[in-house]
Amino acid sequence: MAECIFCRIIAGQAPAKVYYRDEQAIAFQDIHPVAPVHLLIVPIKHIESLNAMTEEDKPLIGHLFWLARQLAAQQGIAQSGYRSIINTGPDSGQAVFHIHLHLIGGQRVRFPMG
Ligand code: 5GP
Ligand code: ZN
Repeated sequence: MAECIFCRIIAGQAPAKVYYRDEQAIAFQDIHPVAPVHLLIVPIKHIESLNAMTEEDKPLIGHLFWLARQLAAQQGIAQSGYRSIINTGPDSGQAVFHIHLHLIGGQRVRFPMG
């Protein structure tokens, strides 16, 4: 997926402020953060959206939420709270078609985010 910006970041071909990486996932800062903490938790495997998720991806998607929990603690927002969301398709505003979990916190998050 050479044209996918997140695959390019994973491959080290595009810059990002990386907070975490393992064999299954990477976490880096959103380029346009909407709050003091705004990380994107992204599987190494290119999956376009939740609609393209297969049953075998269930542990992988669980791992993304596990990392959200770990990174929230590391960022000091576990108790103050945070938003953890995945956008899917046009009505959600999904802009990058490689699944990513937004971890957003460090200030009161308004809902809806617009
Ligand atoms: P979506 O609407 O698809 O859920 O969110 C895509 C997110 O990716 C946006 O919040 C946007 O700011 C972020 N983003 C888009 N391109 C880049 C990039 O090249 N680098 C980083 N770090 N974030 C990006
Ligand atoms: Zn990709």
